Amino acid sequence: MKELKSFLGGRWVAGGGTPHTLLNPATEEPLARTTAGAADLGAALAFARDVGGPALRALSFAERGALLKSIAGALQSSRDELLELAIANGGNTRSDAKFDVDGAIGTLLAYSEIGNTLGSKRFLVDGEGLQLGRSARFHGQHIAVPRRGVAVHINAFNFPAWGFAEKAAVALLAGMPVLSKPATSSAMVAHRIIEILHEAKVLPEGALSLLVGSAGELVSLLGAQDVLAFTGSGETGARIRSTPNVIAHSVRVNVEADSLNAAVLGPEVEPRSDMYELFLKDVVRDMTQKAGQKCTAIRRVLVPRELSSSVKGDLVELLSAVKVGNPAEEDVRMGPLATAGQLADVRQGVGRLNGRIAFGSLSGPFEKGFFSSPILVEEPGDAVHEHEVFGPVASLLPYEKDPGEIVARGNGGLVCSIYAEDQAFVEKLVLEVAPLHGRLFLGHPKIELSPGPGTVLPQLVHGGPGRAGGGEELGGPRGLAFYLQRVALEGSRPVIQKLIG
Ligand code: NAP
Repeated sequence: MKELKSFLGGRWVAGGGTPHTLLNPATEEPLARTTAGAADLGAALAFARDVGGPALRALSFAERGALLKSIAGALQSSRDELLELAIANGGNTRSDAKFDVDGAIGTLLAYSEIGNTLGSKRFLVDGEGLQLGRSARFHGQHIAVPRRGVAVHINAFNFPAWGFAEKAAVALLAGMPVLSKPATSSAMVAHRIIEILHEAKVLPEGALSLLVGSAGELVSLLGAQDVLAFTGSGETGARIRSTPNVIAHSVRVNVEADSLNAAVLGPEVEPRSDMYELFLKDVVRDMTQKAGQKCTAIRRVLVPRELSSSVKGDLVELLSAVKVGNPAEEDVRMGPLATAGQLADVRQGVGRLNGRIAFGSLSGPFEKGFFSSPILVEEPGDAVHEHEVFGPVASLLPYEKDPGEIVARGNGGLVCSIYAEDQAFVEKLVLEVAPLHGRLFLGHPKIELSPGPGTVLPQLVHGGPGRAGGGEELGGPRGLAFYLQRVALEGSRPVIQKLIG
């Protein structure tokens, strides 16, 4: 069985904490084990700060962008191997695995391009300079410089490749060294990625570290120049945010947590119309892709009351055609949940929703493996607006007049999708729900190859207020701000202009 070590202080070391066995969630076969041992996290952070940081800051944005291109190239060369690992350790179908691995490569390339555009500078000039007083000589200019600490990235289990890349791409481009901690249960993909990058020697020493296994004391070792980007449950996010050290040193924290994403079908949409079919397709894709283990997946399906029985019948028919099974088999469309714990949470969560099961079953289809069928719930209780069931589960919610009021009950989310032809309806709903979300997806059948609301694109921001964690990632160059310190320069205009070039 493969032993997964951490890559800290420029070498492979036994990780901290209790050893943990990683399984194939379809067969329950043990695949790898995280190692236990005394990883010196303080020394690892110091190495990243003192060796990786200066090496990255010495490079221009374009040069850092070139590093990202090399990372993407190295991952592309090992793509098939990574896909196989995601199938085995993540319970991903091949298509789910591509979503993760290709998403990682695409995001790295997108940020490499941004680096190219930012060119030979090593810091950002933020906005136009300003005359500050009556004298034209008294001048102000904002700039943004890389922070001098480490960017610590703690990721959720569901996207081990993309989760690593979407955070690392932005931090490295900004000029900060990265210490990445994948979720333990699905760490094989992230671990292999770091091995590949180490073997390919694409990054300066100290620029990228990996912690496998539990985070241990990592968060309490962070200082004022470090930043922490976390993706996972709201509960862990809250614990991290309230770590005394994080509060005492004002450690910059970004939390990407859970979300009760809603999809709203407009009142005038005709059954069988292209808009209606697109809506059904997106709901089914979000329920079944990655077995519904996507933070952006549709959880609440809002339909006009008069269409609810038609939508229910059509969803049941489409879900019946989804073959659940071992994703190593080609015709399987939905694999298992990632762990036994996830499966137990999903079953308990469906109970908490307290509705009627319109499709699916709480008992697993196979003796081995952490499988659930897709589950469509109708007439759920209020918990549907409070509790995220992180699996292939969505609830049907008929509305009379005001879907916006129902959407708002989710208390902030990552994405809300709207499928409507009536422009006035779209405009009203957009303005009503926009303050509650990081992204709104306006579905339209004329958009070719629409990825649906569940796909996060590097050009647009990802995150959301309230329950979603209050964070923001990606968004093209906007994402760099988290890793940069904005500073206002005020002084003599020629001095400042010379400095910024
Ligand atoms: P989780 O249990 O909160 O774990 C997330 C990460 O935090 C893992 O790497 C975990 O490590 C680590 N962790 C746990 N306790 C910690 C602590 N005290 N200090 C530091 N790190 C700690 O979440 P999950 O089960 O992996 O992920 C599922 C949740 O993530 C869902 O609620 C989903 O909605 C959310 N999610 C959100 C997004 C987004 O972008 N908004 C994306 C994906 C998932 P171990 O694995 O070693 O315990």
